[in-house]
Amino acid sequence: MGHAGRAHALLSASGAHRWLVCTPSAKLEEQFPDSTSEAAREGTLAHELAELKVRHYFYTTDFGKRKYTTCVNKLKKDELWKDEMERYTDEYLEYLKVTALNLTSAPYVAIEQKLDLSVWIPEGFGTADCVMVYGNTVHVFDFKYGKGVHVDAEQNPQVMLYALGAYNTYKMLYPITNIQMTIIQPRIDHVSEWSCSREELLDFGEEVKEKAALAIEGKGEYHPDEKACRFCRAKAQCRARSDYNVKKAFDIGELPPLISVEEAGKRLLELQDVVKYQKDLQEWALSECLAGKEVPGWKAVEGRSTRDWTNMDDAFEKLISTGVSPEEMLYEKKPLTLAQVEKMVGKKEFQEAVGEFIEKRPGKPTLVKESDKREAITNRVTAEQAFKEEN
Ligand code: SF4
Repeated sequence: MGHAGRAHALLSASGAHRWLVCTPSAKLEEQFPDSTSEAAREGTLAHELAELKVRHYFYTTDFGKRKYTTCVNKLKKDELWKDEMERYTDEYLEYLKVTALNLTSAPYVAIEQKLDLSVWIPEGFGTADCVMVYGNTVHVFDFKYGKGVHVDAEQNPQVMLYALGAYNTYKMLYPITNIQMTIIQPRIDHVSEWSCSREELLDFGEEVKEKAALAIEGKGEYHPDEKACRFCRAKAQCRARSDYNVKKAFDIGELPPLISVEEAGKRLLELQDVVKYQKDLQEWALSECLAGKEVPGWKAVEGRSTRDWTNMDDAFEKLISTGVSPEEMLYEKKPLTLAQVEKMVGKKEFQEAVGEFIEKRPGKPTLVKESDKREAITNRVTAEQAFKEEN
């Protein structure tokens, strides 16, 4: 099935992180159009390229060089095509290759396989990017083209659902007891692996079964949650999310005049979603105003206007004819940023050619969540540093 044409079940695997937490969300979302962003369409294109590469490598006899080149050339005609997609999909393929080559015998490889999830989710199915089966293991690979958030494989409901589908498909043919899951996110150099036992996976399946039975009926409790609400189509209008955020922002009661550092940490965590919610609400209220509806207390106006050339070449030509110097007054010569040059040259070539001219300066201190992988910093002088300075 083409990536763009993949049908979406009401309870999709990719939305499982939402409907498993907030079971009525799937039904509520049905009222809103499923709009796809440019980033999502770009991701679809990259997935199509990745699929061709994996197919060509593992099934060369059926999908040889000629077929592969014709299909890739077709993708290159897409307006969202970017050459960097080649590099990122190569990294994905490389990961699969290394996994397969490190095994004692060749694995069974399924690419873009539609997996039946109906044992757990009514009419449920999912399409895994790649599944390998070897020995007592079923291994699910998920290629992610996004670069906004690191996605981890541990307890990830989307890949666990693919794993359930894959397990169910191959359990009669292979003695599967071990479940391996890998998420490959090449644009941010992120690979996340996780494994669990068959029993753990099946326990998860039972939990899914219960939640899916509620979700398909639109029943259960609304459960606003930063992760769950982020891409929910009801996020601007959902009452549960609205009440939850208003409560977080204003419901503070009788407390001492100064807040403690413990409270600051807690509040910063809580207010994160309030800020996001306010933005979603503003966007929706603006679209309502523009549609001619009245939003009490608010109106839509024209933002600050900008000026632009109607024909820059003709305008510059005219200015030059009046004696304006193009080099000094019309154009400036600016070097590209380090990241832009690296992108143009390629990571490896860049490092080999000019790596010696690069120094890494520490970034400005930034407050992030405790779960962030970077090491914590402090201004406090350690005993070791003080001793060094004294000497
Ligand atoms: S916005 Fe949040 S709380 Fe509301 S339905 Fe969606 S996921 Fe549930």
